[in-house]
Amino acid sequence: MQHRAVIGLGSNKGDRGFYLQSARFLIEQELGSIVLRSSVIETPSWGFKASPFLNQVIVMETSLGPLELLDGLQAIERKLGRTQKSFVKDGKPVYHDRTIDLDILDYDRMQYHDDRLTLPHPHIAERDFVLASLNELNINLTDHEDTI
Ligand code: AMP
Repeated sequence: MQHRAVIGLGSNKGDRGFYLQSARFLIEQELGSIVLRSSVIETPSWGFKASPFLNQVIVMETSLGPLELLDGLQAIERKLGRTQKSFVKDGKPVYHDRTIDLDILDYDRMQYHDDRLTLPHPHIAERDFVLASLNELNINLTDHEDTI
C-alpha cells in the first residue's frame, strides 16, 4: 500500500544546493517516489545563530511505515555527512549546523507520538518557510481540528 508523506529538507552547511539535490536523489532511490516539490528558498536559521538555510518541502509516496521512513531518512542524513543530532540541555534544545536535515512533516495525516517520532511534526506552524512551501504546493496540514 502506498502512503503519502510530506518531508521538509534543510541544509545550512557546505554546498547546500548539492545536499538538497543529493537528498532528493537518495530518497527516490531508497524510499519512494517524489510526486511534488516546492521551490527551494533561503531562510534565516531558527533556534540558533548560524548560517541561513536552504529549505524545500516535497511530497512523496512510499510503501514504508512511518518509523521505517524515519530510519531511511536518518540513514540518508548520515550518508550526506550529518554527524550530530540536536539534543536537550537544561530543558532547551541545542541546535547546530547541519549538511542536511530531513523531517517528516506529515504521514497520511496520522497522529503519532513516541520518543523517536511525533506526527504531525510539532514545529510545522512555527516555521514560516514550511507554511510558505506548503502553501505553494496547495497543502493545508492545519485544516483538521484533530491536527495541530
Ligand atoms: P533534529 O536533530 O532537529 O533533526 O531532530 C531529530 C530528532 O527528532 C530525531 O531524534 C528524531 O527521532 C526526532 N523526531 C521526532 N519527530 C520527528 C519527525 N516528525 N521527523 C523527523 N524527526 C523527528
